[in-house]
Amino acid sequence: MNEKERILELRTLLKRYSYEYYTLDRPSVPDSEYDMLFRELQELEEKHPEMYDPNSVTQRVGYEILSEFKKITHERPMLSLGDVFSYDELRDWSRKITDVYGQVEYCAEYKIDGLAMSLIYENGLFVQAVTRGDGLVGEDVTSNVKTIQSIPMAIPYNQRYDIRGEVYMPKSSFNRVNRERRENGEEEFANPRNAAAGSIRQLDSRICASRGLDGFWYHVPDDVNSDTHYGSLEYARRLGFIVNENTRLFSDIEEVIGFIEETAAIRHDLPYEIDGMVIKVNSYDLQRRIGFTSRIPKWAIAYKFPAEEVKTKVEDIFITVGRTGKCTPNARLTPVKVAGTTVGFATLHNEDNIADKDIRIGDSVVVRKAGDIIPEVVRSIKEERDGSQVRFVFPDRCPVCGGKLYRFEDEAAHYCVNSECKARLVYSIAHFTERNAMNIDGLGEKRVEAFLNEGLLSSFEDIYKLHNRREDILQMEKFGAKSYDNLIEAIENSKANSLERLINGLGIRQVGEKAAKVLAAHFKNMDSLMNASFEELSEIRDVGPVTAEYIHDFFKEDSNVEMINQLKILGVNMEYIDTSVASGSIFEGKTVVLTGTLENYSRSQATAMLEDRGAHVAGSVSKKTDYVVYGAEAGSKLDKARTLGVTTLDESEFEKLL
Ligand code: NAD
Repeated sequence: MNEKERILELRTLLKRYSYEYYTLDRPSVPDSEYDMLFRELQELEEKHPEMYDPNSVTQRVGYEILSEFKKITHERPMLSLGDVFSYDELRDWSRKITDVYGQVEYCAEYKIDGLAMSLIYENGLFVQAVTRGDGLVGEDVTSNVKTIQSIPMAIPYNQRYDIRGEVYMPKSSFNRVNRERRENGEEEFANPRNAAAGSIRQLDSRICASRGLDGFWYHVPDDVNSDTHYGSLEYARRLGFIVNENTRLFSDIEEVIGFIEETAAIRHDLPYEIDGMVIKVNSYDLQRRIGFTSRIPKWAIAYKFPAEEVKTKVEDIFITVGRTGKCTPNARLTPVKVAGTTVGFATLHNEDNIADKDIRIGDSVVVRKAGDIIPEVVRSIKEERDGSQVRFVFPDRCPVCGGKLYRFEDEAAHYCVNSECKARLVYSIAHFTERNAMNIDGLGEKRVEAFLNEGLLSSFEDIYKLHNRREDILQMEKFGAKSYDNLIEAIENSKANSLERLINGLGIRQVGEKAAKVLAAHFKNMDSLMNASFEELSEIRDVGPVTAEYIHDFFKEDSNVEMINQLKILGVNMEYIDTSVASGSIFEGKTVVLTGTLENYSRSQATAMLEDRGAHVAGSVSKKTDYVVYGAEAGSKLDKARTLGVTTLDESEFEKLL
């Protein structure tokens, strides 16, 4: 296919995707796929100006309106935004402006992932709400928008007033609505944006009212009440509109990048979804001089966060057996970059999930990875099937020990109940040695498995007897004297761990790092925990009756009591060591900024460890910052720290100080 044919192919494909996305509110491919193809089309069209077509998606906003709502022509068009996907592209955009106009002031704001809306007021009263539509003509959705409680129905301003912003569905509403739809056997919404758009297009406003929508207001097209964009937002706030509080002014694009990084680190904690940041030139006068294209303003740009949903292919489906015997199906994927990391596997959760989403081997699928969450397959793209896809049949035998698999009543998961199953043993020992549990470096899953195969290890207690097996271990492949010494030292050190690490390592159902900490702080030593009654356990905040029962059952087992006694005899500490006050950590009372990707810790793990040591973890670097901890691909924060003379720590220095 030559480039011109490709242009025509892309136009047809993107037109279909736009129709599915804007008109049906039901996208079949992730945004990242659309964005990539859109870019390709833009570049090809630039190379072939003779192929110009005003109907190409690159020349249009949104998609034509096919709904039953009344059509309204906007007094001023509602445009889309140009977008960039890297800091360098953002710098280029800024440079093009500063080269002509010198230093400018930027307003940076969250890019709310909802749908654009124009609200019209006359004589101080709300009269109309119109969707963006194709940018020129939108849909009159006034009665639905009236159901959004936070939108003022009257304002203290008597001129005609047009304010624009985003109607969005908060994450809590999205989860609730999708839960209800699941229970009613209805198709779930792909994301909060589509859910919001689908709700606004309901002909019955009672349905829209039940969806829990909200709005943020970020643009006043008539520059009458201020000289600046920021000023007009402050004015709007005084009139009673909700303007996002994370709207900030900067005079340097590097500071904007700092703000973006700060936001990227906390975006998953926000109660609503954002898919990027919007950077606007603040002065209205400059905005006018910089101007527009037919599709976008040139004085604003959207920086899009790395995609969290991407398209790839399921090459195979296989089962892993966890330490509780739980069998989880996983997809082996054609490796793909998601949210900045390469993903080759994703969880499929359980048999029902595979059936509900109809995920088959060979399918094109949408994979999602958000924050620290394990990548998952969101849906299969059925339109791309060619008949070679194969349905997955859940095995009835454990893939590791061959034992029969059971599915208990009310449980979606299958379990291998053979307590001798090697997979269960490997995972439970590897969990025991994990960084957040007993923290025995050098005894990860692979090595536990090798030791198990050599007959060196078959219980937690065996770990503390490994020093007697020096010769056997040194005979093993890839095991030098130095690694042996390091391993024995790590095992020795782990004996002094505070109690919560041991509790976490035991792998009691539903007792993870957080619950372990709560239990250790409450009971202070292992004996008290072991002797606690069910009532006493269930009264502890953050534990609850279900977990209490698991804990109680665990210590009722003689073999578990015996295991604890053995560990005690082998010298493992059974007491809680309180480090929360006056820990003497070097980080105590200090302000620390994290930037870039650390190899061994997620952002939230590193934050928790610092906070445990009494540090305040901040989002941006200033003179008041004490330390900047940096990982791979650290950006402007590291540069700023160096300029300000703030102490910087790479990952190994950070670990040492911890
Ligand atoms: P956009 O969403 O990339 O950016 C423009 C919009 O951002 C504005 O119209 C406004 O609604 C919104 N916005 C949020 N916060 C804002 C703020 N603070 N200031 C200004 N605007 C703000 O552009 P678009 O034209 O609405 O949609 C294009 C995007 O939609 C594509 O990049 C793609 O990701 C997605 N899309 C996906 C498919 C698909 O099949 N998956 C199809 C079509 C479009």
